[in-house]
Amino acid sequence: MKNKYQDKIDRFMDYAKMRNANEPEFLQAVKEVAEAVIPYIEENPKYQGKKLLERMIEPERTISFRVPWVDDKGEIQVNRGYRIQFNSAIGPYKGGLRFHPTVNQSILKFLGFEQIFKNALTTLPMGGGKGGSDFNPKGKSDAEVMRFAQAFMSELYRHIGPNIDVPAGDIGVGGREIGYLFGQYKKLTKEFSGVLTGKGLSFGGSLIRPEATGFGVVYFAEQMLKDKGMDIKGKVVAVSGFGNVAWGAITKANQLGAKVVTISGPDGYIYDPEGISGKKIDYLLRLRATNNDVVAPYAEQFPEATFYPGKKPWEQKVDIAMPCATQNELQKEDAENLIKNGVIAVVEGANMPSTPDAIKIFKEAKILYSPGKASNAGGVAVSGLEMSQNSMRYNWTAEEVDAKLKEIMKNIHNNAVKYGKQPDGWVDYEKGANIAGFVKVADAMLAQGVV
Ligand code: NDP
Repeated sequence: MKNKYQDKIDRFMDYAKMRNANEPEFLQAVKEVAEAVIPYIEENPKYQGKKLLERMIEPERTISFRVPWVDDKGEIQVNRGYRIQFNSAIGPYKGGLRFHPTVNQSILKFLGFEQIFKNALTTLPMGGGKGGSDFNPKGKSDAEVMRFAQAFMSELYRHIGPNIDVPAGDIGVGGREIGYLFGQYKKLTKEFSGVLTGKGLSFGGSLIRPEATGFGVVYFAEQMLKDKGMDIKGKVVAVSGFGNVAWGAITKANQLGAKVVTISGPDGYIYDPEGISGKKIDYLLRLRATNNDVVAPYAEQFPEATFYPGKKPWEQKVDIAMPCATQNELQKEDAENLIKNGVIAVVEGANMPSTPDAIKIFKEAKILYSPGKASNAGGVAVSGLEMSQNSMRYNWTAEEVDAKLKEIMKNIHNNAVKYGKQPDGWVDYEKGANIAGFVKVADAMLAQGVV
């Protein structure tokens, strides 16, 4: 059915395209928000005529900088660094750093824009930002990663601070990288502060932060199923990727009695009908720490598993799909396969992993579908809790952090249901999450005037 406000949405998208030509990922993220939020604005006079969306799609600040460093052979390398400080209406900019060769302004703007709404959903006081570099950590030595991180922070430190902008990890930036970045920040500023989250436990990190995004995805899935009178226990789950988010999701899914049968990498996926748990995860973690490909060797180690080169996990028959690798990894034909095989829920762990075509299919089939900005918000939520602990100079126990995370995911779920429940009872989580995030940020922007 054509949206009653389609003309307004089209006009807004023409405006966004004119100002952001050649940024397809960013425009994709903007369109998703515009489709949910413009009808809401049209029906709520308080938000009309204030150019709120026009202001929201313009980053408050975009910083781009040179990152020169010397590799192990003594050769000079030059990368490009970025920090997009998107929106600080409800708190200091907050969002991860991504180190991956595909990083460019469009990708970081899409991630920073999504982060505004996600952070608002957590109910914690965090604005939206994102950053990173086109540096490729794959195959680099530990010393090279350290020298790159130091060079990157040598510029970034001028723009961040515990009350200004607090970066965290993302693809290619885990505990090791955060450690090196933190060390360089401290050296340059002579200040030991909570300027980054995802820190090691011995220097201000929070328990459960490494697991938080994946745990949160599974808690969110649990809530969605509960709402329908179902249980996650006994469900068969397909996960993609095997990075930080996938690892947390697999661990929690196992704890709650589900069976995870796939993981993937850019080169293909593993199907293990006996489930990926226990020693198999330990093996993967050891492999991952080597900076090399993780997925293919799994099938050599565990003969019950099969490696499907060049394929994606979405062709398997599963109850729940959790895309946890990267943007646009789940496309139209993947969505068709999942629906054909009777999937009950698609719960996004990555940011924008499903293409618009795929989302349309999920919505038409009225399955449970949750966008990453709602279901993967657990990571940034525990980052927010790490900031609180740093300010208090105090550490909560793992149980305390986990209980807070679970409560936050439940609140995000309920808030998305509040704005997303349709007359027939089906919940449009995408619409609900976008409107709930928008309302919080818009109210703060209205109160603060035109700044
Ligand atoms: P990691 O770098 O730890 O892991 C990424 C995983 O995805 C790796 O297993 C990687 O394989 C795999 N991968 C990368 N590209 C592809 C591809 N084209 N096809 C299949 N697999 C691929 O990153 P994270 O786990 O931190 O992040 C994953 C996603 O979750 C991203 O979208 C990120 O923005 C999002 N996210 C992360 C949060 C966090 O707290 N870390 C918070 C919220 C969202 P390989 O290593 O072999 O390249």
